[in-house]
Amino acid sequence: MFDLVIRGGTVVSPEGRVAADVAITDGRIAAVVTPGTELQASRTIDATGRHLLPGAIDVHSHHREPGYTHKEDIVTATAACAAGGVTTSFAMPNVDPPPNTPERLAAMFELYRAKAIVDWNVNPAGTVPETIPELATMGIAAFKVFMVVDTGRSYPHMPGIGVHHHGKLLEIFETVAPTGVPLMVHPHDQELMDHIEHGFWDRGERDFRAYAKAYAAYDGIIWDTAAALLLRLQQATGTQLHLLHTQTKGVVDQLRAAKDRGQHVSAEMNPWAVLLGNDWANIERLGSYALSYWVPEENTEPLWQALRDGTIDLVSTDHGPHTREEKEPGWTDGWKAHTGTPAAQFYVPMLLDAAHHGHISLERVVGATATDPARVFALRHKGRIEVGYDADIAIADLDREWTITDDVVLSRIGWTPYAGRTVRGAIDRTLVRGAVVYEDGQVTGSQGWGRQAVPER
Ligand SMILES: [Zn+2]
Repeated sequence: MFDLVIRGGTVVSPEGRVAADVAITDGRIAAVVTPGTELQASRTIDATGRHLLPGAIDVHSHHREPGYTHKEDIVTATAACAAGGVTTSFAMPNVDPPPNTPERLAAMFELYRAKAIVDWNVNPAGTVPETIPELATMGIAAFKVFMVVDTGRSYPHMPGIGVHHHGKLLEIFETVAPTGVPLMVHPHDQELMDHIEHGFWDRGERDFRAYAKAYAAYDGIIWDTAAALLLRLQQATGTQLHLLHTQTKGVVDQLRAAKDRGQHVSAEMNPWAVLLGNDWANIERLGSYALSYWVPEENTEPLWQALRDGTIDLVSTDHGPHTREEKEPGWTDGWKAHTGTPAAQFYVPMLLDAAHHGHISLERVVGATATDPARVFALRHKGRIEVGYDADIAIADLDREWTITDDVVLSRIGWTPYAGRTVRGAIDRTLVRGAVVYEDGQVTGSQGWGRQAVPER
């Protein structure tokens, strides 16, 4: 007798798809069998005509709690995850206080234990070398370092979480290496940026267009030089490096070469890089609401290609909710608007739509959103629909067309830059360890159901 059987669906993995019935017991997948096989269960879900995807694992999401809960909190962020087919979400450390000591990290874990609807982890700031060895023992999946410190505003990259001094970065790499924990870095060349942005300001250019252009100056030089440094630090120290925000052809070329050399590096692409900030018309229409960053269009196809061939390992959201009040100043001063765009609720459907358009295969969508994040961060019981794995499943209707609107946004901010977009592909139901946390358009999961997704290295 199983707890639950999902009948009639097609199970998708990076290797292919197969029609199968899936049985679940005690939160784990207990059987994957030929459709119609006799299975006794307390509950049955009919998934005829639907695809069963391993729940997405988003390793880069800004949940804003503690400290910035006017933007988002753990409940609203993980509700958005549930609705979007995301079954595990890793939080980022630009909160207040930032988790850079064991006490602060433990306090954040307590908040997640009480509030998270889906499984979670927290990537602490690796900025205080003395605390790194102990933080590494707390079941974390990665450390996070930003090489960016904001100018003109105090968030999202506030002082105290950014490190761009090369010697300090080397010290962090050296300290993280023996822990075996991956190090995620937001690449950014602050010294080049200081020069570039002063050029814009001296010419009186401060609006959202100037901001967009500054970050993309010289074909993304601030990204390319930072990535070169990080890859060389990785090579020097052996630390497992996870490069964030891959968005230039220059970084893609460097990643490909580093992987050819056998370096221990992985990389993410964010949805905004190919679905939002790569179209200047979106930036004209939405101003700072479309910025994360401007990614000039010549990068789009190299990014899709790199995602298809695995040079870019995975897609994670960089979910970055900010209120309208925090975005609005960007029309006249792009440096005042908080940078970042929300995506947790919609990125899986948008990638399913991208699969219909031939940018990427359905199998690679599953790899990039679930199987590869689990591989890179050693979540050995997640990312696949196979016997023994956690029953983290998104049941998708690949053919349903629907339009993203602000009305359905579960994020506290109540808006999405993707509003108005019609996509083909929708999440019908989401299961986290066998429990239905989203169905029929409603989040049904309970606060506190989510557990820390602890790596097994
Ligand atoms: Zn981020």
